[in-house]
Amino acid sequence: MAKDFLKGAADEYDVVVIGSGLAGMTSANILGRAGHRVLLLEQHYKLGGLATWFLRPGGHTFDVSLHGFPHGMIKSCRRYWSRDIADRIVQLKNIRFDNPQFSLTTTFNREDFTKLLTTKFGIELGTVNEFFDTARGMNFYDDQATTTRQLFDRFFPGRDDVVRLLMEPITYANGSTLEDPAITYGIVFSNFMSKGVFIYEGGTDDLVARMKKELESNSVDIRINCPVEEIEVADSPIQGTRVSGVKVRGRSIKCRAVVSNANLRTTVLKMLGPEKLDKKFVEETEAVRLNNSSTQVYMALKPGEEIDESSGDLFFTSTAKEFRTDLLLSRDITSRTFSFYYPRTRPHKKERYAIVSSTNANWSDWANLSEEEYEASKADLVETTIDALEKYIPGVRNKIDRAEAATPKTFHHYTQHEMGASFGTKFEGLGVSRALPQQIKGMYHAGSVGIIMSGWLGAINYGVIVSNEVDQNLVAESTPV
Ligand SMILES: Cc1cc2nc3c(=O)[nH]c(=O)nc-3n(C[C@H](O)[C@H](O)[C@H](O)COP(=O)(O)OP(=O)(O)OC[C@H]3O[C@@H](n4cnc5c(N)ncnc54)[C@H](O)[C@@H]3O)c2cc1C
Repeated sequence: MAKDFLKGAADEYDVVVIGSGLAGMTSANILGRAGHRVLLLEQHYKLGGLATWFLRPGGHTFDVSLHGFPHGMIKSCRRYWSRDIADRIVQLKNIRFDNPQFSLTTTFNREDFTKLLTTKFGIELGTVNEFFDTARGMNFYDDQATTTRQLFDRFFPGRDDVVRLLMEPITYANGSTLEDPAITYGIVFSNFMSKGVFIYEGGTDDLVARMKKELESNSVDIRINCPVEEIEVADSPIQGTRVSGVKVRGRSIKCRAVVSNANLRTTVLKMLGPEKLDKKFVEETEAVRLNNSSTQVYMALKPGEEIDESSGDLFFTSTAKEFRTDLLLSRDITSRTFSFYYPRTRPHKKERYAIVSSTNANWSDWANLSEEEYEASKADLVETTIDALEKYIPGVRNKIDRAEAATPKTFHHYTQHEMGASFGTKFEGLGVSRALPQQIKGMYHAGSVGIIMSGWLGAINYGVIVSNEVDQNLVAESTPV
């Protein structure tokens, strides 16, 4: 008989959280901690969403999205998760670049970038300072019409090399391009520049295990293999249209609020359905553009083989002569970001080295291939990536025990994100996500949107913002007038 993944689940909760990405888990944790009855439903068999890892024979563990996040993660994890988690966040000090315009190593913070921009790139100190101050001063309420390209043109006209240094890592980190609003660049760039790039020591598996423990200690009812099919709403003469429950595995579970961590478009257009919403809101949602997807190649070294630490932690490589968005996304790959995982990434495990190569990618380059073409394209991706790595680490091919690829279809399969979007939606998604509770009472969205709210830190912080709103409304509704 098929396993009942909802066995013992109650018929009613205060809040149902759909999806266990970092935003979903953070929301569930805060709401559980505040004393609400919370049900967390995840369609996959694992928690974490894109914050994930996988195991392969030979004792190999691969991290999918543990490449780097800003220092702000320490504070967010300490406040909203635990000291235990926050204390395991460490800096990556060796960030490298190599492309036809420059080769350099940096600690990736304001001080070091100022030094590089003034000495290596010959930019006036005053201009550099003004650029940093402008980027840091940007906030959500600023001018949203200026594009990142216009921002760079103002400070560094004609300096494609400078733009590349400043932009390439951010495009990698959140999919934003020169055509997106400058605030999406300024906010994320300044977050990184404050203190550098950090990761979680112990690996994603350790992080998610600690988060699960914390959720359980806050009495969150966690259910995996539970895809939500529909979000139910009811019309009440006093309250208007409001959330009443979710449909999952043939059961209807009642609740007073829903936080969806699933893709914004899927939440609104499929799980809620256009018939329950204002026409204008539906049109706005339909106009939300998804962010791009990614490909990755995971390579594990044979036991006993090593890579020298001088290879760096994060290495931005490109063979393209200039910096262009279409080149970054092209199937004809020129840019690869290598993450090197030394034994220190998982100090509790045996001495193991792994390398993950990541490249931003278009869904359309992968979605419509025949099975044969798809497998051949994946094999080609693995081979060409190892070739590219050989240039930096001669002989690495012979050290590799296992190599395999993930494509936009892989990310779609595991998270249900339309078009395998790696970083949610473009900027306009944020407005739609924020407006959802005004459409349907008790209905919220917390997950990567609007570029700013994506990545590990953005997703966690958005989960915090949304769960605080849910908490306030639930408390207000329960308080007698
Ligand atoms: C290749 C790659 C590399 C990345 N590298 C980095 C990095 O180095 N640093 C960084 O900060 N960020 C990185 N990111 C981005 C980061 O991982 C994400 O922005 C973040 O993890 C997204 O969190 P989220 O809360 O938006 O939800 P997601 O992780 O998108 O999770 C959504 C969850 O909802 C679940 N779900 C969907 N539909 C349903 C349903 N109907 N019912 C139940 N559950 C459902 C999904 O299964 C999933 O678990 C990377 C992303 C990718 C793809």
